[in-house]
Amino acid sequence: MTTDSPGVADHQTTPAPADVDVAISVRGLRKSYGVHEAVAGIDLDIARGEIFALLGPNGAGKTTTVEILEGYRRRDAGEVSVLGVDPARADARWKSQIGIVLQSKGGDSELTVAETVRVQASYFANPRPVEEVIGLVGLTEKLKARASSLSGGQQRRLDVALGIVGRPRLLFLDEPTTGFDPEARRQFWELIGQLRQLGTTMLLTTHYLDEAEALADRVGVIAGGRIVEVGIPAELGGRHLAPARVRWVEDGRRREETTATPTAVVQALSQRLGGEIPGLAVQRPSLEDIYLQMIGEPA
Ligand code: ATP
Repeated sequence: MTTDSPGVADHQTTPAPADVDVAISVRGLRKSYGVHEAVAGIDLDIARGEIFALLGPNGAGKTTTVEILEGYRRRDAGEVSVLGVDPARADARWKSQIGIVLQSKGGDSELTVAETVRVQASYFANPRPVEEVIGLVGLTEKLKARASSLSGGQQRRLDVALGIVGRPRLLFLDEPTTGFDPEARRQFWELIGQLRQLGTTMLLTTHYLDEAEALADRVGVIAGGRIVEVGIPAELGGRHLAPARVRWVEDGRRREETTATPTAVVQALSQRLGGEIPGLAVQRPSLEDIYLQMIGEPA
């Protein structure tokens, strides 16, 4: 694939020796569609073995960014290195190390689940055994079912199977659990945990805050084509330092105190009330509260 920026065309494809622990490195990434700047200067580093979630509202630039990293879309400017290579001019060997689960693929094939995965496996030199992959995504019962007969959530799992059959070192997952029921989402999260143990680096985009919180080592919040913040989920937006709200019931009335030192407040309350504190709850802002603040929506 070529790019339309001379600066990009000159970019080195050979990784620097210091980059061995870095799976993805992005500097000053830009992409416009006509006059609309969808990605407006993104810097990002993702370590090998890390699970990184890109979180952002509709139209924030997540898919555009990820597609550039996958080598599917040209960039206008910036430097990008994925597994040490510029995806704009990656070869088949690089592609064989990348797994991709696109936003929607659809299983309209007349092949069975096993056949579909077997065809995909045939593109790789050292694929995972087909039945093992189907087991990993929880589709063993559907081995002989036609892919077109699967439910939406099951088709998504088949998409994941196709993404991981080639033993990718880096897996891109674009909104992987959209359309899943709660049980399927939990099972999918377990699958991601298993892949993590195998050392797979993962970049996922999601609208689900609980998913980012449950899965990601770090979260990057993206809005208006810019990264607003990167952090571990528990500390995003200074959430762990935000004042806590202590609630309890005293003399039959609900009471509340906002404090930077909730432990001291609870200790003092416990002493005053003689042990157990009725109706005690200590709350920090949720990831959702912080996220809505970051992307400029009223909480
Ligand atoms: P979503 O969560 O809705 O999938 P996203 O964060 O993935 O959104 P993108 O799909 O990257 O966002 O889109 C970013 C912006 O670029 C949007 O305003 C979108 O309308 C625009 N855009 C995306 N693809 C194209 C295209 N092929 N042509 C023109 N504009 C596009």
